[in-house]
Amino acid sequence: MNYQAILNQIQKDIKPYLGQGKVADYIPALAGIDPIKFGMSIHTVDGIHAHIGDAQENFSIQSISKILTLTMAIAANDAGIWKRVGREPSGSKFNSLIQLELEQGIPRNPFINAGAHVITDIICSHIREPKEAILEFVRMISMNDQIDFDYAVAQSERETGNRNLAMGYFMKSFGNIHNKVREVLDVYFHQCSLSMSCSDLSKAFLYLANEGVIPSSEKAIIPKKASDRINALMLTCGMYDSVGDFAYRVGLPSKSGVGGGIVSIVPGEMSIAVWSPGLSESGNSLAGTKALELFVNYTGKTIF
Ligand code: GLN
Repeated sequence: MNYQAILNQIQKDIKPYLGQGKVADYIPALAGIDPIKFGMSIHTVDGIHAHIGDAQENFSIQSISKILTLTMAIAANDAGIWKRVGREPSGSKFNSLIQLELEQGIPRNPFINAGAHVITDIICSHIREPKEAILEFVRMISMNDQIDFDYAVAQSERETGNRNLAMGYFMKSFGNIHNKVREVLDVYFHQCSLSMSCSDLSKAFLYLANEGVIPSSEKAIIPKKASDRINALMLTCGMYDSVGDFAYRVGLPSKSGVGGGIVSIVPGEMSIAVWSPGLSESGNSLAGTKALELFVNYTGKTIF
């Protein structure tokens, strides 16, 4: 299959969708991003890659970082992880507080904000320098030592992150955050601020398409079973409260972020990353979702 030709076609098809949706502005440092940006990148487990548009331009990966920290928490072998966070779609907004009260401070899944706070808390309990460890991990899996936090974005989020802090303190009142809330949230804001390109991201998450092993170096990141399970969670919980619609249209384990990025996995075959900053109501990239839908239509690469 000529993936470059398919991506070139998508770049033409996607034009009417660019600029639609709304750039996330609740994090002030993200508000000024050009809404017309669009990039897409694939890396296959066999070493083929293809890119279009702004695929080499860095953007804020935001909630896509929740896959990184979940992988690190699983790799740390924390036995308590699934007692402290669920594995069900939330059906509500990614930063909703309502369920936390009803469900005694146990977040529905690791991909909504509250669940990601618990995962980051677990990392803080296992690793002395969690921010450095996250950087080291993401640089290793993407094979790019230049990857860094965007400190202005992290700072902007810390200054306006009252809702995230509220969730952290609320969960702490139920005993479900073990470290200091401000320290956990500092790590969380930094992981969300990671600045990466579509090309970096599609390369980084190849281990999820290859049974937990980086194909080029054959380095095992997590066991196959854990990789399968992260894919299962991405499919059922990775796209917030439009996860059902996304599964219907695209049908791939995926994770989005409010920076406008989406990572999708074709198990056994490839990792795809797309970026376009305009978001739909549910906080997922509007043109990015359309581009993935087109990719699946052109290639037939869906898990169903
Ligand atoms: N940093 C963002 C937040 O906590 C991440 C949310 C997202 O990408 N959906 O609000």
